[in-house]
Amino acid sequence: MHFDIPFQIENYINGKFQHPISGSFIDNVNPATGKVYGKIPNSNDEDVDKAVVAANAALKSWSATSTESRFKILNKIAELIDENLEALALAETNDNGKPLWLSKEVDIPRASSNFRFFATAAMQFSSESHAMEGGINYTLRQPVGIVGCISPWNLPLYLFTWKIAPALAAGNCVIAKPSETTPVSAYLLAKICKEAGLPDGVLNILHGDGPSCGEAIVKHPSIKAISFTGSTKAGERIASIAAPMFKKLSLELGGKNPNIIFADCDWDKMIYNTIRSSFGNQGQICLCCSRILIEASIYERFKMTFVERTKKLTIGDPLVDSSKQGAIVSKVHFEKIINCIDIAKKEGGTILCGGKSVSPSGRCENGYFIEPTIIENLGPNCKTNKEEIFGPVVTIQPFHSVEEALALANATDYGLSCTIWTQDIAKANHVASKIESGIVWINCWLQRDLRTPFGGVKNSGVGREGGLEAMRFFTEAKNVCIQY
Ligand code: NAP
Repeated sequence: MHFDIPFQIENYINGKFQHPISGSFIDNVNPATGKVYGKIPNSNDEDVDKAVVAANAALKSWSATSTESRFKILNKIAELIDENLEALALAETNDNGKPLWLSKEVDIPRASSNFRFFATAAMQFSSESHAMEGGINYTLRQPVGIVGCISPWNLPLYLFTWKIAPALAAGNCVIAKPSETTPVSAYLLAKICKEAGLPDGVLNILHGDGPSCGEAIVKHPSIKAISFTGSTKAGERIASIAAPMFKKLSLELGGKNPNIIFADCDWDKMIYNTIRSSFGNQGQICLCCSRILIEASIYERFKMTFVERTKKLTIGDPLVDSSKQGAIVSKVHFEKIINCIDIAKKEGGTILCGGKSVSPSGRCENGYFIEPTIIENLGPNCKTNKEEIFGPVVTIQPFHSVEEALALANATDYGLSCTIWTQDIAKANHVASKIESGIVWINCWLQRDLRTPFGGVKNSGVGREGGLEAMRFFTEAKNVCIQY
């Protein structure tokens, strides 16, 4: 396929690319250069209405399409994503600021995996039956209908497809909105879906901001389920609208994840992965571990090695292969992170490395870059250790016992994920069972099996994505009881 990305991208409704009804557009900024390089539709409730009409017209046929036909189309979408990896990766990097090598190695391959995985899920999904005395129950799992999928900017196509693929596989029609900050890969996905033969109206992609376009999706009475990934604050707002309408809700929200390092860990593996889990994607992954807890006996050794290794991370133009750290996604987010570092200093934190913005020379001199930052001397109850920063900023704290490690780890309102480093498997299992989070990694980080339940507890969300959990979310169970 040949992709021309116009300066002004369009919504994808009923299989056609079209302007927003208002005629209004929003600037799209490349965060590595700080320059406007495109415009995106500023869609509102009128565009959502139009998309719902299209989805409604397509629903009867799509929900009755054989699973094999759905498999073929979704699998074709996966193939076309792979074939267009270079163009999609470049679009992702220009929108988001992440290194191009990362877009190529992680974001785009995962987007095709999502479609491939849920294409096969459509073929394998089954429902239950329950025999009882004198009769039997069988459960039908039918598509919900029209569903809304709203995703964030940090892993744009990766998370967008993570929602859309299971929704389509289960036979729903979808109204989807990517973040206004990273819209282009979603625009290109629409072209791919058209080429793959996805019928018109089955997937409609609208661009615009959260409060107008996103909320119009959440509020629409014909949209029966909302799958949302983003901040806890926006999740709270969405829940306040959707819950009284009795919509199905899946909320994947913020995190403040602990990385618990015991003295008996595999040192090299732990250090390598701790650099990744602290600063991967400039710390802008919901699963990044922003609170590092270290057993006191190895605290000084860890601090020295970790600071030394962090200082070696090259910050620079995301298009250059040697850049380990790219740009922060937007000016607003850049300013938020710098403000969080100031707060950490005022709270008494010591900056061990980083803490400042960076201005690379050349093309990126006006981009939004921040040094990877390590802070110590802050206890569990300060703002820095309680609130999500979502940037290249971590704190380190020592602990003296398993109980103290658990108390520090659980001392936040969030509960998305946790990483534990120890060779003592009994200790690891004990900590895993007591930790308040939906996901636990032992001696690894970001190891993903798409069949596993994915999601958080406490303020990190409601519900689970992945595997059968996603297929169940995007279907309604109807029990049928037969008496013999
Ligand atoms: P965000 O501001 O909450 O936005 C997420 C998406 O929701 C965007 O498409 C946004 O649109 C839209 N939105 C915002 N307000 C809305 C509203 N009132 N109604 C409907 N839609 C609305 O989050 P973000 O800054 O993009 O992403 C970072 C956050 O996502 C972090 O908190 C991170 O932890 C979280 N996250 C969680 C997971 C997980 O799996 N738990 C994964 C990745 C990220 P616009 O951006 O266009 O305004």
